[in-house]
Amino acid sequence: MLSYLHAFHAGNFADVHKHIGLFLALRLLQKKPSAVACFDTHGGSASYDLEGERPRKTGEADEGIRKLWACRDDLQHPLWKEVWRLLDGPDSPGGETLRFYPGSPAWFEQLARDQDRFTVFELHSGESQRLHDWARTRRVDVRAEDGFTGLLRALPPKEPRLLTLIDPPYEVKDDYLTTAETVIKAWQRCRHGVYLVWYPILPDARHEAMIRRLQDSPVRKVLHSQYRLETPPERGMAGSGLLLVNPPWEWAGLMESMLEEVRSSGAIDARQRIDWAVPEA
Ligand code: SAM
Repeated sequence: MLSYLHAFHAGNFADVHKHIGLFLALRLLQKKPSAVACFDTHGGSASYDLEGERPRKTGEADEGIRKLWACRDDLQHPLWKEVWRLLDGPDSPGGETLRFYPGSPAWFEQLARDQDRFTVFELHSGESQRLHDWARTRRVDVRAEDGFTGLLRALPPKEPRLLTLIDPPYEVKDDYLTTAETVIKAWQRCRHGVYLVWYPILPDARHEAMIRRLQDSPVRKVLHSQYRLETPPERGMAGSGLLLVNPPWEWAGLMESMLEEVRSSGAIDARQRIDWAVPEA
């Protein structure tokens, strides 16, 4: 049975890291007019009410996106304006304290152009029903099925370009190796595809086995972005990690600039490090 619900964590520092990474990857791919096939293997909900019972229970968004929102006038990079527009859309007005936060399906859907196509998988019945309701008036293909196998069945796409977010809950420890195996198989079906994997940095460091599996595979060009809290909690997540296969040109530099601004604004006290998990050759 699936018990993970992202509403407890929506808008935390790790979501900021992941969604800025996703935003940049898609925006950079869209510099060319050719269509992008977009896949989100583990969608969660499309919108989170940060005043709801679950987010209020953890207060994680208060230390993440809500702090960033409060500092938004201090952030200079021109791309932030697009991010604020996304957070302050017609469906989810930002307001003074930022009441609603978009999940990854809403980031994809709002950024997609006419020629792009977006498919989202979600296995949890309640979450997939919410996604279906949200998608009713949108160009989104919602599939209530396993995202790992669903993605592989859908590849290669008919569009010339591909962006996939793989963001499992890791409540099943196999998720780490299943993620690595899925990236390897997906890459074999679409070698030029861009694959973005999120994982938590936890004391058991299980993500290291996932990275080793990728390093031992034929997959090349994997960037590794680690975003670590300066003062991690005694238990729980010390940081957020992203792996990006076939990173678009400029992604690393833009991540560094934007997240450095987040740190210097005082919104989130975390440091980023980007290096190659697997280099080109
Ligand atoms: N990607 C979302 C975002 O950034 O807003 C958060 C996703 S949350 C970390 C993981 C989601 O995956 C949960 O909603 C969970 O129900 C769903 N899930 C778990 N196992 C799954 C599977 N095998 N296939 C598809 N969805 C799954």
